[in-house]
Amino acid sequence: MRDLTRRRNGMVDTQIARRGIRDRRVLDAMREVPREAFVGAGFEDAAYEDGPLPIGEGQTISQPYIVALMIEAAEIRPGDRVLEVGAGSGYAAAVISRIAGQVHAVERHGSLAGSARERFSRLGYANVLVHVGDGTRGWPDEAPFDAILVSAGGPDVPQSLKQQLAIGGRLVIPVGLEEGRQTLLKVTRAGHTDFDEESLGSVMFVPLIGEQGWTEDGRRAALRDGPSPARGLSLPEMIAGVAEPLPDLDDPSFGRLFDRFAGRKVVLLGEASHGTSEFYRARAAITRHLVNHHGFNIVAVEADWPDAAVIDRFVRHRQARGRAGPAFRRFPTWMWRNTDVDSFVGWLRDHNGQLAPEQRAGFYGLDIYNMGASIAAVLAYLDDVDPAAADVARHRYGCLTPWQREPSDYGRAALSAGYGKCEQPVIQQCRELLSNELAYAQEDGDSCLDAAQNARLVASAERYYRVMYYGGAESWNLRDTHMFETLCQVLAARGSESKAVVWAHNSHVGDARYTEMGILRDELSIGQLCREHFGQDAALIGFGTHSGTVAAASDWEGEMEVKDVRPSRRDSYERLCHDTGIPRFLLDFSRHDAVRLALAEMRLERFIGVIYRPETELMSHYADASLSRQFDAFVWFDETRAVTPLGPEHRPGELPETYPFGL
Ligand code: SAH
Repeated sequence: MRDLTRRRNGMVDTQIARRGIRDRRVLDAMREVPREAFVGAGFEDAAYEDGPLPIGEGQTISQPYIVALMIEAAEIRPGDRVLEVGAGSGYAAAVISRIAGQVHAVERHGSLAGSARERFSRLGYANVLVHVGDGTRGWPDEAPFDAILVSAGGPDVPQSLKQQLAIGGRLVIPVGLEEGRQTLLKVTRAGHTDFDEESLGSVMFVPLIGEQGWTEDGRRAALRDGPSPARGLSLPEMIAGVAEPLPDLDDPSFGRLFDRFAGRKVVLLGEASHGTSEFYRARAAITRHLVNHHGFNIVAVEADWPDAAVIDRFVRHRQARGRAGPAFRRFPTWMWRNTDVDSFVGWLRDHNGQLAPEQRAGFYGLDIYNMGASIAAVLAYLDDVDPAAADVARHRYGCLTPWQREPSDYGRAALSAGYGKCEQPVIQQCRELLSNELAYAQEDGDSCLDAAQNARLVASAERYYRVMYYGGAESWNLRDTHMFETLCQVLAARGSESKAVVWAHNSHVGDARYTEMGILRDELSIGQLCREHFGQDAALIGFGTHSGTVAAASDWEGEMEVKDVRPSRRDSYERLCHDTGIPRFLLDFSRHDAVRLALAEMRLERFIGVIYRPETELMSHYADASLSRQFDAFVWFDETRAVTPLGPEHRPGELPETYPFGL
């Protein structure tokens, strides 16, 4: 026995402490529990080896290091109430019992549970109770628990286990669809409906078999939705197994699939380009549904306030502003002046027509106030005084809407001395433009843009324009922070019950902390700010496509062209979606843990903006991202078409109907 104590200490030192387990309580408990008492007869000698061992019924006792890792991650403290699912030999439960107040261990095999019980009574471990049953359902009679450890791998995190966590409680569980390989997950219950999640690396466990785990023959047992994937699938097969096919865009059931987001305060809908018809029509269908059935009264888009205000007056049946021209006349005109937006705007006006004025859903622009007009003014000025500087500025702005990588531009900027000299007059011009616009808005008495916001805009305008002028991460961050602040302002102005749908590019809507933008460039996004501010009350929904056509320019202020979208790269998320063979679908990461984990690994994602340069596609338009962390859900259209722009010639003679866009 003395010999085994020495070997046990050796195990703790070399296999556990040296691998980074620091929690003193865990190390002490591992020194205390005689592992040899938990291995099958004849295996006592192997008890301190660095691996799992058979315990009968085809099951194993976990590797000591994994037991220590899970217990440390579960942050078990004296007095805690702990549930272990998959008691097996009872070894892990025994270690936990040396730290916690009370341990409940569930095992589905009666014979294993019986042996474990005997071991505890022989050792005098009185605070461990072994139950026979299906632990995927937890153990409701003893809930809530401060910590839950699951010693077998499931396809998802069982809902029952999450629900049986105390607030602040920790759940540690291996999750994955592959045979014998899972990701060890730590789920912390931050609030009643709020769960944080952290991945602790790859592990190998026997399957978790039960109502909310696998069936005996390796299929997923409990289904919250959709078809049931089997273990051991490729990534596209896994996605196909949980993807919810989308009906036709005009089918009313399209919007109903998004009912799950109806309770959120803010639903952000992305797009993978600024010129794809399907993205606009899908967002219109979802928005119509949310406005019609779920009390959303704000549509807030990635656009200039003054332009959006023209649309807003139209859809809310308010008087057109005398001096205002038609909306969205500046580059990139097709982004909002297109047939899809036109029909959505028409719908919104009709819908609002049946409502009292204060109930009407409004249409708001979130962007830096009058950014488009300011950029146009800057470029016009530079064209006159320093064409080389104008050229640099055009490239810079190409990078601003939306995110895009153009390494060559940095060098070009440095070469243009005239650029810096123009700064003062350019900013002066922008300032004048801004004060004129604000004066109009004030006459207008627009309640969302009150005096306080005007003051904020004027105070920060100079900074905005100066930073915009130089481009880079700071201008991006100012812009997205501004969009977020404007959104909050509009939400507040429309009352405490207000709810918003946001339309913006994936690069704004996604959580930038999980993309190259945030990780390498310190850029943030409105989606990230919404998550930080609203938590579970915000839904971030990304959109993607494989191939087809897109409306885009080759340079800032260039002509709109209909370009072919190159088939997605082999190493991209888009290709995984394409390989599912499903033409359009919704992938809800919150409902499918294994797929969420698999799609959390960094991979290329495509970002097409108002500018698309297929020649340099990888460099210009792909960035690394963790798709399932960037978004809560992803909407897929395998094949997509360019938007149809409204030209000046659009429907001549029908001016009243096309009023907001009419020229
Ligand atoms: N913690 C154990 C590990 C045992 S292996 C130890 O230290 O020895 C995992 C155990 O989980 C197996 O005994 C298996 O029978 C059990 N198991 C699998 N699915 C289960 C379920 N739904 N409920 C309870 N036990 C389960």
